[in-house]
Amino acid sequence: MRWLRLTKRTLLLALLGFAGFLAWGYGRNHPQDVPWAPLDLAQPVGAFTRAKLAELEPAQCRALLRRAGIRFAALPDRSDGPECGYQGAVRLRGGAATIGYAPASLGTSCPVAAALALWEWHVVQPAALRRFGRRVERVETFGSYSCRRLYGRRTGQWSEHARANAVDIAAFRLEGGRRIPVLDGWRDPGADGAFLRDVRDGACRLFATTLSPDYNAAHRDHLHLDEAGRGAAGWRVCR
Ligand SMILES: [Zn+2]
Repeated sequence: MRWLRLTKRTLLLALLGFAGFLAWGYGRNHPQDVPWAPLDLAQPVGAFTRAKLAELEPAQCRALLRRAGIRFAALPDRSDGPECGYQGAVRLRGGAATIGYAPASLGTSCPVAAALALWEWHVVQPAALRRFGRRVERVETFGSYSCRRLYGRRTGQWSEHARANAVDIAAFRLEGGRRIPVLDGWRDPGADGAFLRDVRDGACRLFATTLSPDYNAAHRDHLHLDEAGRGAAGWRVCR
């Protein structure tokens, strides 16, 4: 009996070792799908990309942007009291990212900028080509930094906008000039509506929080995207 127990335990250990070996091998080939591999913006979007983006430190994040060939300007740190301000924020300048942002002065936390670049490459441009046969040239926003609480209330939780860790997307302008606003496009039964839902769904894989007109009336005219830190578990809000 003792011999049998020993064999069982050896077998179990061997199985665990083999499973570990398989996981290690999988992680080597799919770093975006395992939690322990560092983020690389050149990798495809995987199961852990979103959680890794939200947890990036500013210096580490800027290094990733540089390595990916994303042109940006580093913004000086800003403090407007204990709840408002930002450190390590950036302004995207095009380059590897081909989309321009309007207003061009848009500055965001580095994780939001990194997520916007991945969103452009893996979600926005493929969706635009699929739905319209042309690329998006410009993304119009309602901006990022704003020292305010959620919904501009006087009490309660502070918004991610108060740390420039969020961006509100208002419209997309295609090559050739056609404009697709979130406000009118969302209910459109044709390509505009389908495109806007494509980019919303894709944002959910990259941003900690994605809120669309489906969520509430306050979001009827924009997509709210943020990288709220929620720990390594990285649960998301996608509505
Ligand atoms: Zn917002």
